[in-house]
Amino acid sequence: MESPHTPTPHTPTPRPSALPGDARRHLPRTDVTLADPRLAAAADRLGRRLVKAVLAGVQERARAGEIPPHEVAEQAVAALPATASQLRPVINATGVLVHTNLGRAPLSAAAREAVLAASGTADVELDLATGLRSRRGRPAVEALLERVPLAEAAHVVNNGAAALVLAATALARGRDIVVSRGEMVEIGDGFRLPDLLVSTGARLREVGTTNRTSLADYAAAVTPETGFVLKVHPSNFRVTGFTRDVGIAELSRLDVPVVADLGSGLPAPEPVLPDEPDATTWLRAGASLVTASGDKLLGGPQCGLLLGRADLVRRLTRHPLARALRVDKLTLAALEATLRGPAPPVHAALHARPGQLRERAERLAERLRRHGLDCRAVDSEAVIGGGGAPGVTLPSAAVSLPVSCAGPLRRVTPAVMGRVEGGRCLLDLRAVPETEDAALAAAVRQAYRAAHRAGPVPADAPDGSGR
Ligand SMILES: *Cc1c(COP(=O)(O)O)cnc(C)c1O
Repeated sequence: MESPHTPTPHTPTPRPSALPGDARRHLPRTDVTLADPRLAAAADRLGRRLVKAVLAGVQERARAGEIPPHEVAEQAVAALPATASQLRPVINATGVLVHTNLGRAPLSAAAREAVLAASGTADVELDLATGLRSRRGRPAVEALLERVPLAEAAHVVNNGAAALVLAATALARGRDIVVSRGEMVEIGDGFRLPDLLVSTGARLREVGTTNRTSLADYAAAVTPETGFVLKVHPSNFRVTGFTRDVGIAELSRLDVPVVADLGSGLPAPEPVLPDEPDATTWLRAGASLVTASGDKLLGGPQCGLLLGRADLVRRLTRHPLARALRVDKLTLAALEATLRGPAPPVHAALHARPGQLRERAERLAERLRRHGLDCRAVDSEAVIGGGGAPGVTLPSAAVSLPVSCAGPLRRVTPAVMGRVEGGRCLLDLRAVPETEDAALAAAVRQAYRAAHRAGPVPADAPDGSGR
């Protein structure tokens, strides 16, 4: 962004005179270019500051002789972003259903509409019937309790980590959290749950070993100093072989609260993922409090869910830290609509039938081949991602393209993120809603042309398929 002191091109600032063909003299003045009706309309929509910054970039290229001066306005219009934010929509063709780098769960249409409706001023803390203040986010909490009736109470915070921090602070600050060494998890990007818990002023009492922990280990560590026993679902790794862990039902026999970090946010058992735990099952087994993320397998917005005993939830919501972790109206709107509305895209991705995915891949490949593209449908394997079900693969289908398309695909609009496998760029369809197939085909054609123009790209071109 420019500063208010940036000289505009028509102020007589001394500049190097050896510009190619002295293009600058032929460059239309900035105010004249900005008066172009297309750019004036864009300034109304996106803001004059943003349009000027885009124009400045194009003028720079004109000065460097890369584009003729009379094309400046045209090129600036072409370079305008779709919105005033730099976040760009990406078609998730990675085959990773819940991709943290891509914002995890995509919202349902119902949730997007709810966000839009709430984005102005809205009755987030006001009872319109009485005109009095009401409890913030009550409808979202009620929707949660409808989906998980075994929870006596619920609370929503900014993310899963915040849910744990609030529980640890309110229930175990200055006290012990008893946790198995097999459940001391790093959740990603270098963040480790043990560090997070200790940062609240709670003490960790580690019990058992990496591979085996017994109820007796927990029982020996529980003292009057215990705030709670923590059970963590290892949502991003698996330990196999000579292993043993202690389930919620056994832990609930200890005379202290059991806080259980679910991760995925499944409200109830999910038949496609039989080994993935859910809030209802864990509460029925005796968990006092379940924590989870809203934007993993629940398919909603980023938020942290706390479900369980009313007395514990009350202690959390009354703790001063709760105010620092509270969610905004957009999150509350999206969460409620996710819970009450039609099943979100993550659900559709989980339940997509392999045969149908293959048919879509065949259709897309055929359509692209008709335009001369080197393209075929292949079988593929999708995964859940950091959000849960480690080690589980779901049969899927993909469109296979030359690896040289991977880079250009990320630069078209909408951007497409595939994965590079076996020297090909695969576009896995399981996490792509069928309604996006046409946009995907158009993006592929555009990227293919760009890859072709730029000549062959080395086969080892770096391309994240980051899970
Ligand atoms: C994802 C996850 C977290 C962190 O939740 P965020 O919403 O990313 O803050 C914590 N614990 C488990 C088990 C998880 O899977």
